[in-house]
Amino acid sequence: MKKTYHGSCHCSSVRFEADLDLDQGTSKCNCSFCAKTRFWKAFIDENALRVTSGSNYLTEYQFGSRTIVHFFCRTCGVKPFGRGETPDLGVFYAINVACLDDLTPDELLNAPVDYQDGKHDHWERQPAEIRHL
Ligand SMILES: [Zn+2]
Repeated sequence: MKKTYHGSCHCSSVRFEADLDLDQGTSKCNCSFCAKTRFWKAFIDENALRVTSGSNYLTEYQFGSRTIVHFFCRTCGVKPFGRGETPDLGVFYAINVACLDDLTPDELLNAPVDYQDGKHDHWERQPAEIRHL
């Protein structure tokens, strides 16, 4: 069931709302960025994210093919979400579930987790080893 969660960066300069259905799953990946930031994410449509304050604190980071924009707070460095676009999906956001302030541990534990082998550019398949992600 879709629910509206409220999120923020660490210093709370950036605040947002995100409509997401955790039954649709969350995602962890072994690519160079997700591995270093331990980024646990949930994908949502473009119109399911609303930045409610502090958008001027958001700054951007891109690397590689530059298909994903990683947004982080310029004060505290925490990344609340990233934005991507593919021909199939259109514009989407990857929400950092760790930044959702009213998401309970139980809700997170009950959400299915998909694993992606981003390290080898095989986003559609699970990597051989996932225990460290
Ligand atoms: Zn911050």
